[in-house]
Amino acid sequence: MTGRHFVEQRMDEQLLERVGCYCSECYREFRIGESAYYDLHEYRYVCGGCAENLTQSREGESSEIPEEMNEASLF
Ligand SMILES: [Zn+2]
Repeated sequence: MTGRHFVEQRMDEQLLERVGCYCSECYREFRIGESAYYDLHEYRYVCGGCAENLTQSREGESSEIPEEMNEASLF
């Protein structure tokens, strides 16, 4: 589900030191052993909850057909 937008990575000490301890979206602290998600669009790490929310909003945006825009462009 997160494959297109995020890469799941297991946090370890090295990764924590390299990327910092906090989710870039909600600033929750990562813990060693939990999963962090690398954002392929914005090149940052976020937590599982934020990855899910961001995936949903991105999928929503791309699947919506902007019918109103088509009508508006006629005028
Ligand atoms: Zn987060």
